[in-house]
This record gives sequence, structure tokens and C-alpha cells, in this order.
Amino acid sequence: MQAEHQHRYPKEDFIPVKHWRPCPICGDVDWCGFNSYIASCMRVQEGSFKTVIQANGKPAYQHWLEPGRVNLPMPMESDSMPAVQTAPLEARNRVYREFLDLLYLRPRHRENLLQRGLTEEEIRKNGYRSIPEAEAPWSICRRLIDIGHDLAGIPGFYKGRGRRGGSFWTFDRQLGYFIPVRDEKGRIQALQRRMDDPQGGKYRLFSGHQNRGGCSCGTPAHVARPAEIKDRRVWITEGPLKADIASKYLGAVVVGALSACTWRPAIPALTALGAREVVIALDRDVETNSEVARAYLTLKVELKKHGLAVSRAVWEERKGIDDALAAGMEVRTVRV
Ligand SMILES: [Zn+2]
Repeated sequence: MQAEHQHRYPKEDFIPVKHWRPCPICGDVDWCGFNSYIASCMRVQEGSFKTVIQANGKPAYQHWLEPGRVNLPMPMESDSMPAVQTAPLEARNRVYREFLDLLYLRPRHRENLLQRGLTEEEIRKNGYRSIPEAEAPWSICRRLIDIGHDLAGIPGFYKGRGRRGGSFWTFDRQLGYFIPVRDEKGRIQALQRRMDDPQGGKYRLFSGHQNRGGCSCGTPAHVARPAEIKDRRVWITEGPLKADIASKYLGAVVVGALSACTWRPAIPALTALGAREVVIALDRDVETNSEVARAYLTLKVELKKHGLAVSRAVWEERKGIDDALAAGMEVRTVRV
């Protein structure tokens, strides 16, 4: 009963009582604390559901704050929270893996991935997961915290504000699915979201809310590896999912920059991979979009500066190399 009750509420911090917000249980203005759901009273045991022995050895009596049962003080001004530093890659990888393990892939998202040319096995291996629809984000955060994870510094998670001024960990719940953004060792550095509703961008990072205890993931490049390497060259495209799909058809490692203009993080990835020869496969609007054309040229120059042999992929009709490959079209490479 108790555990069940607990999971109906976010894991909210306790805020200390003050003279303008006295304890809802004993009415005193020091020692006790409360959040939107629970009061932790140091004086009144009667009616509590649990006694917690604190670090100082004294008991704290926890009471549910059922609506209407007690007179709750009004919430105070919402002060903004300090920005936090993004956690190291190892910590992000650990939390994201466990996070994705708690989620599953909805049939409509699986269908979308199958249509784009991935097999069931590849979908499973790459770790795509639907943004949860049934379970509340704070409840999933609670489970991660209960396992022992610290969500501070993990991009995508931030602090929601409780009705009484306390705060709890949560994340955005707009529908879609997560695409893991991995480094050259397969570690998950960040998550990209493919949104069901493309308004505001079809692909969006799981990041931000710096004014609410969240942090930014930057613009990391994704490294996609095929089951078997048939082409030793490393390819560069735009978009992690596109890289996953292209990698499977090419039998090559494909680095997916988050966009044509954010290719810079792809360079250290290429170095870490020990690449010697690189094929640029940006979208075909490189021919019509001046911004993409400029990105292509600066990327080409930078790759040559690093002593790499550079080619360009050429195909017809389809915009992205993933679509061209999935449609069985011929993709040629030209030295540039
Ligand atoms: Zn009290």
C-alpha cells in the first residue's frame, strides 16, 4: 500500500518550514519540512505513515498531505535554479542506458523504423525507445533515483516545480521516440528525439531547461557501426538515424553529425576511429541550399587539413543517402 502510494507522487525535495510557511502538521516554524505531498514533522507522530531516523539520530514523522486534510501554506515566489554542469560521458552513458531500459518502443514507432529500412534486430540493437505515454516522467525519474542514479548534469532531465514550492526531477513528455547518440565506443552521449508532431522541429535534442536545473548536451556526433565492416572508409552524413540506416547498407562506420552545419564534433570522432579515408554524404540539398553548400566546403577543407583522403557520395533523386540506399539506388563516390 505504502510503496504503491509513493509512486503516485513525484520525488519532491522537502522545503524547510519558515515563519511564513509553518509546518502543516504541528504548526511550528522550525525543524520540520514538507513538499507538495508529504510533511516531515519532527514533533507529531500521531497520524504519520512512516518514521525516518535522521542523520542526527532523531526521528522525523512523515505524514501524507491529503488535499483538504490540513491547511497548507501557499507557495512562495518561484526562484530560478542555478544551472548545472553537464556530467561526464560515463555518467551520461550509465543513466541513459538504464533510462532506455525502463522504456519500450511503441508499435507505430517500430513501424516507422521498419519502413525506413531497418530490421527488427537492428532496431533492437540500436536501442530506440518511445517517449513514455502511460507513465509520468517524474515517476520514471523516481525509479532512476531509487536505483541510485543522480540526474543532475544529465541533459534532458530538469526540475519541475511542485504545487507548494518544492521541486522534483522530470523531463519533457512530447510524444515521439529516442534515438541514442553514441560515441566511437558505443557509449550513449546524448539522446535525440524524433517527434510525432514535427511542429518545432522533427528532430530535437533531449537537452536544456538550464534555468530549471537542466543542462545542455551540446551537438555531439553519432557513430553508427554495421554488424560487419565491408568498407574501411568512414562516411559522414547528417542525422544519427540516417547514419544508423546508411551504416547498415554500406557496411561502413558512418558518423552522423546532428546537422550539416554542426559537423565539427565529427572531427574528433574520426580521429578516435583512426579514419584515413572519408566519404562526405550530406543531403542532396548541398546542391541547392547555400548554407549546406558552405558547410560541405568547410568540412572538406577541415578533413584535408587533418590529412584525410576525401570523397563525396553521389546519388540521384532521393534527398538523403539513407533513402537512396534503402531504395536500392546506386551510390557512387567521387574523389574531391
Ligand atoms: Zn511539524
